[in-house]
Amino acid sequence: MIEEITCIECPIGCTVEVTVEGGKAVSVRGNGCNRGKAYAESEVTCPVRVVTSTVRTEDGYMVPVKTSKPVRKAAMFEVMKKINAVHPSLPLSEGEVLVRGIDGDADLIVTGKAAK
Ligand code: SF4
Repeated sequence: MIEEITCIECPIGCTVEVTVEGGKAVSVRGNGCNRGKAYAESEVTCPVRVVTSTVRTEDGYMVPVKTSKPVRKAAMFEVMKKINAVHPSLPLSEGEVLVRGIDGDADLIVTGKAAK
């Protein structure tokens, strides 16, 4: 089976063709660089994404957060459940870990200031 993927690793957006056999990428064509090869192989085997969201503090402020690394798309529902269950208290500082190991070795970290 051949899967066609648009690489999102840089603005060029190469169209990459991945031949998949037995759930594994056996060949990659059309990638302009090795980053695209790695991205395409990941997309057909275990796609991952950085999650950006917000959490509500105990006293109702919204705080921007993101995962420190890409998390598995297959785990996205569970990751969002964990994010929605977090209600930290202020003060918070940028880079502070709110949930360690939210998926694998990815943490949930604060990325900005609290706002109402
Ligand atoms: S394959 Fe390389 S050059 Fe092409 S979009 Fe991906 S990162 Fe950019």
